[in-house]
Amino acid sequence: MYARALTVIPTSVHPDLDLALAHLGFESFRPGQRQAIETLLEVGRMLLVAPTGGGKSLGYQLPAVALPGMTLVISPLVALMHDQVQGLLARGVPATYLAATLDGDEVRARMAAIARRQYKLVYVAPERLAFPGFRGLLARLPIDLVAIDEAHCISEWGHDFRPDYARLGAARRAMGMPPCIALTATATDVVRRDVAAQLDLRDPAQFITGFDRPNLFYHVRREPDKLASLADVLDKNPGPAIVYASSRKRCDEVGSYIARSLRREVVIYHAGLDRDERTAAQERFMGGEADVVVATNAFGMGVDKANIRAVVHFNMPGTVEAYYQEAGRAGRDGQPAACVLLYSPGDRYLQEIFIENEYPPPDAVHRVYDFLRSLDADPIELTQAEIKESARVELHESAVGTALRILETAGALERFRPREN
Ligand code: ADP
Repeated sequence: MYARALTVIPTSVHPDLDLALAHLGFESFRPGQRQAIETLLEVGRMLLVAPTGGGKSLGYQLPAVALPGMTLVISPLVALMHDQVQGLLARGVPATYLAATLDGDEVRARMAAIARRQYKLVYVAPERLAFPGFRGLLARLPIDLVAIDEAHCISEWGHDFRPDYARLGAARRAMGMPPCIALTATATDVVRRDVAAQLDLRDPAQFITGFDRPNLFYHVRREPDKLASLADVLDKNPGPAIVYASSRKRCDEVGSYIARSLRREVVIYHAGLDRDERTAAQERFMGGEADVVVATNAFGMGVDKANIRAVVHFNMPGTVEAYYQEAGRAGRDGQPAACVLLYSPGDRYLQEIFIENEYPPPDAVHRVYDFLRSLDADPIELTQAEIKESARVELHESAVGTALRILETAGALERFRPREN
């Protein structure tokens, strides 16, 4: 544990927010932005929930410019860090990022420059906090603010849980608890509480803003011929479009239909493609060579393409949060855009089965509990598959995982996880 004085921003210091805004190249605040930033500077702990495209980044970029020291931004995606750093550098704001994609010499050079305090913003992936060298460096720097982007990744209850995010609480403590802002587009009550607890954000100021995106038009279409509906949507909404489909196979089918029958330039993006193919597809779409991308939910986090005119869901996604996040990629430029779900009863049925497996009925939770109680061992070391077998849970193995979490939340059992201190 590094001993370091608390970084508290005296309320008597009022950094010039308008000057910082101009420095970032913006003319005015969007509704809520100024108030959120002023509250963050005053309270030092904030949870900011706003939709994708809502302008959350300003919540830490502006304090970073206005405050004297450095802001550390934790972000899960290299593409996102890279884009933001390019944007900041273009405006003359010194910023950099560290990522596994950089070679060793480049990382060392950037670390040395960070140590010389050359940057206002430093972006890193959460994995970086496992490096003792980097943690040692952080402990010696004047960190004014830690920003956790996509903060729902810290919660096991979130839909994108990333185990590396579990390190953030410890890392923040090691830095001497600097002010912290956690940002996300999706956070249910449980996730919000969990994010705050994991980061030691006691009584954070909470800003939940602007879920209404007035330029987005939502439709559900129930026609049995989904390909014909898709053709119609793409025809009526010319411009870049994302089509989300549920599987790799479906992506390939829909992609070839668009290319063959609609004669549109289309790329496919899913986890079955290798990294180079995915990058090439993304670049063709971002650069405007292809105006339609057909993708699984693997596509999109960090995609900052402002002029997407339609997001079509060929299949129903698993959660409302996922739908909102994916559909929210439309119309970031504020111009009208269509978000269309192509409904079929089969898709709904499939999701219901998934939901049942993921959220088991009370009887299954009871079975797991009774089975665990019947064992003498303490602690119990069993896999989920073994528990499923022995407790005769007739659902998918993941249902056992959920039952364990429910029991843990209820205080009926304790789980030991590898955790860093
Ligand atoms: P989020 O992180 O919430 O998804 P971003 O911070 O990337 O959203 O902002 C979305 C877009 O809005 C970006 O292109 C950003 O430059 C722009 N933006 C944010 N705040 C303002 C503002 N006050 N004035 C003009 N554009 C803004």
